[in-house]
Amino acid sequence: MKAFALVARGEFAWANVPDEPPPGPGQVVVRPTACGVCASDVHYWRRGNIGNQVITEYPYAVGHECAGVVAEVGDGVSSVSPGDRVAVEPGIPCGECRPCREGRQNICPDVVFLGTPMVQGAMRESILTIEENVEPIPDEMSFAAAAMCEPLGVGIHAARLADVRRGENVAIFGAGPIGLSTAVACRARDAGRIILAEPVPERRRLAEEMGFETLDIALDPVEAIRDLTDGGADVAFEAAGDVRAIDWTVRSPRLGARACIIGIPSEETVPVPINAVRRAELTIYNARRANRTLADAVRLINGPARDLTRMCIHSFPLDEAPAAFELSAARADGVVKAMLEFD
Ligand SMILES: [Zn+2]
Ligand SMILES: [Zn+2]
Repeated sequence: MKAFALVARGEFAWANVPDEPPPGPGQVVVRPTACGVCASDVHYWRRGNIGNQVITEYPYAVGHECAGVVAEVGDGVSSVSPGDRVAVEPGIPCGECRPCREGRQNICPDVVFLGTPMVQGAMRESILTIEENVEPIPDEMSFAAAAMCEPLGVGIHAARLADVRRGENVAIFGAGPIGLSTAVACRARDAGRIILAEPVPERRRLAEEMGFETLDIALDPVEAIRDLTDGGADVAFEAAGDVRAIDWTVRSPRLGARACIIGIPSEETVPVPINAVRRAELTIYNARRANRTLADAVRLINGPARDLTRMCIHSFPLDEAPAAFELSAARADGVVKAMLEFD
């Protein structure tokens, strides 16, 4: 099938990628119509790998934050039919391993994840998925908004994992797509103060427009958070994938509180101030991707979290992906989430 794919490192072109088999029982074919550009996609484009996940063969279609239209369904599929507009969860778990049996499909070691080598991604004519991974969206919801359900799911999962409760003060390091998604997920759980620490002024402004408090990181953000929250946050989230931010995240909660690491640092090993962590009996959660958050994400983005779509003001047709990727890589023009729209 046709794809606007990577044909070499750093190079996009129209190309042919392998066809999918017809949908089997419980399977669904979706024609993608929107796909968000994720930092991980930018990595694959620039470097051809993330750690040991390597593009070993071109052409390779990237993209996992997608929405589209159901094209075909297999036997036994009852919740969607051809023509339905849907949001898509990108990970297909094995269903057999211990994490899968325990309801933690997001850490399934055998997950087949859209746009993670060598599973072809969403920037092609159609994708084959399972019924559980598609969620119908309301008529008034745009495909771009539906594609935001994937990063929002990461925030919903992290807020759930760290068990953010009513009235709790939250600090978030990073006001990019994941930081803002985490912020709206915490607000949906009736958190108290929600403070985002972020160096980029445009991102702080966006967070403020969405009703959150912000901090520049030029001054000591840990001190500032302690001052604002009476001794420290109840929960701190790291949503930047940055070594310094990880340090701040574990130092800004109050004694006996929680931290949650969501970001993906490029370093394999990072230092943690272990005595401060120990003295505080800090609980550190680590969140990976999202776990069965799609229905909640659709509901949130169609309601209380609608302003999350304000982060995707940069929209491109599919064959302008190179411009979208350049913009995302350079973080130019205040871009937060570049969105590719296919028709
Ligand atoms: Zn992503
Ligand atoms: Zn599994």
